[in-house]
Amino acid sequence: MSDIRHLIRTSDFSTQEIITLFHNALDYKQLLMSKTPTHQPLKHKNVITIFFENSTRTLSSFELAVKNLGGDILRLDVSRSSTSKGETISDTAANLNAMNPDAIIIRHRNAGAGYYLSAHVNCPIINGGDGAHSHPTQALLDLLTIIEHFGLEELQTLKNADTIAPFAPLDSIKGKKIAIVGDVVNSRVANSNIELLTRFGMEVILVAPPHFLPQTSLRTSDNLKAIAQEVDVIMSLRTQTERHDQVIYGSLKDYASRFCVTKEIVGDNPCIILHPGPVHRNIDIDDEVLKDSRSKVLEQVTNGVCVRMAALDFLIA
Ligand code: ASP
Repeated sequence: MSDIRHLIRTSDFSTQEIITLFHNALDYKQLLMSKTPTHQPLKHKNVITIFFENSTRTLSSFELAVKNLGGDILRLDVSRSSTSKGETISDTAANLNAMNPDAIIIRHRNAGAGYYLSAHVNCPIINGGDGAHSHPTQALLDLLTIIEHFGLEELQTLKNADTIAPFAPLDSIKGKKIAIVGDVVNSRVANSNIELLTRFGMEVILVAPPHFLPQTSLRTSDNLKAIAQEVDVIMSLRTQTERHDQVIYGSLKDYASRFCVTKEIVGDNPCIILHPGPVHRNIDIDDEVLKDSRSKVLEQVTNGVCVRMAALDFLIA
């Protein structure tokens, strides 16, 4: 049981493992883009998805990733599951575990749900997002998208290296600046990215109104326009209204007037623009910027499938 690996937080993977994961993800990407069938390391493997919170991208991305690798998916319908009849999550876990799955992918509104589950099962747990805590595969796909833009060559040269330094091995992204903009305090995407991107040597600047900022030693600002001129990457976040117990901004329109990523804000900066989705159009990012070639939002979705294939392959096969 002890040698089972889980992916609950980005820190569950070492820097070296992440570099290898990215190589594999890019190999998968090439095969998918050229419609070449991949090998099938998950053949005869069963993966359960159990999502207690809504999801479009993450759920379908994981399911596609499993199918691309030849595995079988059992999607548990949470509205019909016994948890909605009062069963505790550890009992649900014990019952799922008794079916001998090869992995369980869970999303839950409570932070720590995946971590808790991992103590009750004999297979890898992959966290598809838990409360405001962590969303590791999102951060991994975000970093891969950044590296594809700034450091692809360097990543490729590392493929043949015997050893990879444990910290910040990619000079091409080391010191690059990223603004993470919006509801940082409630965002598991921000949390996971802060750990991962700083580990890879990026300078993270949190840009938000004060009530959307966590306690942090990172640089912060409420002036998106000024910061947007000095960064290499802008990552916009959705306002996590489902996690607000009261309205904490006058209105989304007021918020947008200062924190929406517009063409005027970005100007001529040759940066790239990311968003984990779902995008609130013209609140998080405006229509024009979403159409701009600097927006990599759909590239992130493509990379998501490949990163998840590589993670599933690593954890299960
Ligand atoms: N899709 C991301 C998540 O599940 C971002 C969001 O919902 O705003 O956390």
